Order: sequence, then structure tokens, then C-alpha cells
Amino acid sequence: MPDSTPFEIPFPTHHLLIAGRWQDACNGQKLELHNPSDGTPLAHMARGTAADIDAAVQAAQTALDGDWGRLTAAERGRLLGAIGRKVLENVELLAMLEALDVGKPLKQGRADAIALARYLEFYGGAADKVHGETLPFLAGYTALTLREPHGVTGHIVPWNYPMQIVGRSVGAALAMGNACVLKPAEEACLTVLAFARIAMEAGLPAGALNVVTGLGEEAGAALSAHPGVQHISFTGSVATGAAIQSAAARNAVPVTLELGGKSPQIVFADADLEAALPFLVNAGIQNAGQTCSAASRILVERPVFEAIRERMAERYRALRIGPATDDLDMGPVISKRQQGIVEHYLALARDSGLRVAAQGSIPQHVPGGGFYVRPTLFDDVPADHALAQQEIFGPVQVLIAFDGEAEALRIANGTAFGLVAGVWTRDGGRQMRMARALKCGQVFINNYGAGGGVELPFGGVKHSGHGREKGFEALYGFSTLKTIAIHHG
Ligand code: NAD
Repeated sequence: MPDSTPFEIPFPTHHLLIAGRWQDACNGQKLELHNPSDGTPLAHMARGTAADIDAAVQAAQTALDGDWGRLTAAERGRLLGAIGRKVLENVELLAMLEALDVGKPLKQGRADAIALARYLEFYGGAADKVHGETLPFLAGYTALTLREPHGVTGHIVPWNYPMQIVGRSVGAALAMGNACVLKPAEEACLTVLAFARIAMEAGLPAGALNVVTGLGEEAGAALSAHPGVQHISFTGSVATGAAIQSAAARNAVPVTLELGGKSPQIVFADADLEAALPFLVNAGIQNAGQTCSAASRILVERPVFEAIRERMAERYRALRIGPATDDLDMGPVISKRQQGIVEHYLALARDSGLRVAAQGSIPQHVPGGGFYVRPTLFDDVPADHALAQQEIFGPVQVLIAFDGEAEALRIANGTAFGLVAGVWTRDGGRQMRMARALKCGQVFINNYGAGGGVELPFGGVKHSGHGREKGFEALYGFSTLKTIAIHHG
């Protein structure tokens, strides 16, 4: 759709969803959302605070004690399937909202909406297939385990992939029979609000899902500290994750933290380079590099280093950048603040004499107020440099040359993070050695990202967090095990 197409958001964006009712925040206050593609005001969202969080937690508990809590697993599964189908009917609307709110090209927003539907389909189908066990035990006893919901679960979601992150966390939590309080990010919340409307229209009982928009330090902090919440799932920065974990610790509540990374793709000289090339750049510039599993480090074995650098550079120079609704290769970053962070790293690189291997260019006609940054590939960066160590969350990749498996591993494992890694090699033994020795939550051999992989458990080690979402593993995370021992003689 061309950028000039008039588009009206088809629902009031400044309402919270509590106990099935759309309502203003208790204090009546609002926050402004901006369109990252041109920097103009886009809509208002409610500025929920502790009082709204309290009402949402109570609504969730009431739902657990009422209609929602009485549904069977099969009924919950059927409902999730119905919500997923309604999401599919609304892919174009969701993609447009995401383009305007996040600055994400339409094709990426469509892919996210379809992934959201896929999570609901997967977890809907799994809802009645997760069960406890009977355990061999003492004579005269029968012992068994039951998988039960935690109760009220809190979901604190960032702005980069709101649909996918809601799908994987709220989808799994609802499948297990929890009732959710969802706090979207202050930078982007429109697709989360649209999803909640879709879920209510599809028949989700009141209070099973509550949405409180607002600031992290207000609504987010209140949710993570609320004594009525029994589990918290968070995706975002390391500092915020640590704050949430300490708030939850005061209530002895489990948390799942997904905190980003500095993930490598490792290219050995024997790799199928043609197969690797599209993944090397795309995994760095997708969503303007604002992806927790972005491949921000490209480690290349020395004999093929120059060839890879030249081919990646060609791709960088050909990147088409512009407003999200123009649906090009890359849109803007989310905010002026994020633009400033990326520019800070580019300046740091310049000051420390790093060589630029290639840069994309921003066309003259893009709106001046948009938050655009030039995608940049740096040439053979020292592995201990800040650009090779810190999560930038922008379209910046560093090339690092290595000699042999041992050095590749040392560099790959040599950051504070450990989310995912990609390995490109035709050597079967090396594939397994690398997969086992890499310190991270997911390893991709001769691919990167596995197309999103709803079925594949996802999460990190070290500063990338702990706990797993996606796959069946998430269903175990969003439930608790009760053991029953019956003495019947
Ligand atoms: P953030 O971690 O501060 O925000 C993420 C979510 O947490 C938002 O919903 C926010 O409202 C909430 N939040 C913020 N402070 C909170 C608090 N004290 N208590 C509870 N909730 C709180 O991330 P950000 O400010 O949007 O981005 C900063 C950096 O974080 C980025 O540059 C990037 O490096 C990283 N990040 C990573 C991911 C990821 O997918 N891993 C996503 C977003 C941001």
C-alpha cells in the first residue's frame, strides 16, 4: 500500500482491557505513540498505573475462579484455535498497524501476524495433550502428578515483535489455563490491543486476558511486584529483566527472561557460501536489526573472508530503505532514542578507527522526521571491541576473521550473551562438535532462525536470560506440577 493511503485505526487505542471491558486508565491519562517512518504523532494509549494493574490482576483471578477456570483443556484449545483463525482473517490490518506503530515493512508484519496465528494453532492443539504421570511407588500407594496452571501470569512485552511475543507467551499461558495480565511496550502497543479485541470477539471469557498499557516504571513495575501474580514472562533488556526478577523474587514468583544477545553466524571455509549469503545479511537487517536473535557478529574463516565480505557488501549497497508502508528491505528504527543509540555506536566505531566494509544509503525522499539509520557492516573488528560485545539493537553487523574451529568457538562464546548461533559447514563432525560446544540456547546448522520455529524451544543462557518459551517446553514453564500420593493399602 503506498504511504499516502489514508488509514484510520479502527478502534479506540486509549483504552485498557480489564475484566472484558475496554476502559480509560484510572487516572484518565494518556501517552502519545509516534509513527517511526515520519516521526508524526500516531495515536494515544492509556497510561495505566498500579491501580489499573491491581484491577487487572483481580479480574484475572475472578476469571480463574469463574467461567475461564471451569473450561476443560479441550475447550481452551478449541478457543485458541478460533482466535488463531480470526487473526488470520486480520493479517492485513495487523501488518498495517505494525507498520505504522513499529516501522516494520508490511511483509514482515504479515509474517509476524501469521506467526501469531501459528502459535495459537500450536498451543490450541497442545492444550489437551500435556498431562501428568503415574509413578511406580511403595506397595499400597498410587502416586501421580497433575499439571496445573500457575494462576495469574504477567506478560511484559517489548516493541520489536509484539505479535510473536504475545503469541508465544500468552498463547502458551492460556493453553495451560492461566489468566493473563499483559503489559505492552510504551513505544508500540497497537497490534497487542488489536489482538486482544480479536480474542474477545472470538469468545475468550472476560478476564482471561487483560491488557494494561503504560510506562515500564509504572505499569510494568507494578505488575512485576504484584503479590497476586504467580508467574512473570519478560522479553527486553538485561537491566529491566534484572529489575523484574528482583521484584518477583520478593514474592517468590518464577520468571522467564528473554534478554537479547550478540549472536554469531560462523562461516567455515568448506561451507556452501551461496546458501549462507542471504542469511548472513538478512539476519542482521531484519526489523532494522531490532531482533533479539539478530546475527550481529559474522565470524568467517580466513580463506573465505574476503569473498564473504565482498558479497555481503554488495547486498548492503543494494538495500532499499524507506517508510514501512513502502514495504522495502528495511524501515526506520523504533524511536529517536533508538536512533541515537545506533548513531552512538557508529560514532564510537569511527573514533576507534574501525573500517566500514559497506553501508546502505537512506534515499533523499524519506520523510525527514523518520528515525532512519544507515545499515553498516564493519570489517574485521577485534572480538573484544564494544561493537563486537554489546547489543546495539540496530542494523549494524561486525565481520570477524578466525583461523580454525578452536578460535571460532573462543570468539563465539566470548561475550556476556548466549541466545542463538548459526554454523555453516559441510563437515558433519564439526557440525556436532560446534553445536555441543556453543554456549547458547539454540544452534542452527546450515540455516539461521529455522523460519521462526514455533515448535522449537527458545531462550538463552548467561545474560540472554533463562527459561524457555516456544514448543512444548513453554507449556511446562507456564504450569506447575502437583504430586499426589494415595495410600489405599
Ligand atoms: P526495556 O527492557 O526497558 O522494555 C521492555 C518492556 O519492559 C516494555 O514493556 C517496558 O515498558 C517494560 N519495562 C521497562 N522498565 C520496566 C520496569 N522497571 N519494570 C517492569 N517493566 C518494565 O527495553 P527498551 O527500553 O524498550 O529497550 C532498551 C534496550 O533493550 C534495546 O536497545 C535492546 O538492546 C533491548 N531490547 C531487547 C529486546 C529483546 O527482544 N531481547 C526487546 C526490546 C529491547
